[in-house]
Amino acid sequence: MNIVFIGMPGSGKGTQAQKLAQKLNYPFVSTGDLFRSQIEKQTEIGKKAKQIIDGGNLVDDDVTFELLKQGLKDFDISRGLILDGFPRNLNQAKMLDEYLKIDKVININLSESEVLTRIGGRRTCICGATYHIKFNPPKQKNICDVCGKELFIREDAKEEAIKTRIEIYNKSVDPLLDFYRKKGLVLDIDGNPPIDEVTTEINNKLSL
Ligand code: ADP
Ligand code: ADP
Ligand code: ZN
Repeated sequence: MNIVFIGMPGSGKGTQAQKLAQKLNYPFVSTGDLFRSQIEKQTEIGKKAKQIIDGGNLVDDDVTFELLKQGLKDFDISRGLILDGFPRNLNQAKMLDEYLKIDKVININLSESEVLTRIGGRRTCICGATYHIKFNPPKQKNICDVCGKELFIREDAKEEAIKTRIEIYNKSVDPLLDFYRKKGLVLDIDGNPPIDEVTTEINNKLSL
């Protein structure tokens, strides 16, 4: 099964996508993580993408899709794949459609005000792990449980960038979801409950 996660920035996509990937033992690939890794390594793509990402805007569709395809080469995706952060608009969904058959789309619903609380407390590790100072703290303050590195606050967690990201999401999401709804692939999930309860709803709706 190839499964895609859609939701407002901060809705819990990454958190849930990683848990599902662990449960199914599928590769987890996040375009946001791929970009952050390129930025850390100061590659050409990273240097070009940094300003766009920090401002809360979307990187060009073609550039992002190339990065995704390159990123996928590191994994065995023959059994299935969990994708987080791609596609983010209709054009990307069409690009992906020609490359990979998507079997399910998990659409996480959360209000704008709740999203702001979540992004405000988010702490991220370069390994891709995500925490929340209140709702999902690491065992040791500011240290990643998974790899032991120091956690950071993302550059795009600033108010202006968050506003831009939410606006872009609101503008792009309907055509994107319609594309998948017509194919009957969308599972709508309430993102409000605590992390483990959202996980249970996802597992139930996937009949896992
Ligand atoms: P969030 O978890 O807050 O939704 P991500 O980590 O998925 O954010 O993405 C961070 C940033 O990386 C995005 O705001 C955007 O600039 C860039 N990015 C990630 N995925 C895509 C994509 N599919 N298309 C264009 N830009 C992307
Ligand atoms: P996204 O990938 O959609 O941007 P994340 O998975 O990074 O969202 O989650 C955003 C923040 O909210 C993180 O700090 C995460 O730990 C926290 N979080 C995720 N799901 C929940 C939940 N169900 N309840 C409370 N906090 C959550
Ligand atoms: Zn880590």
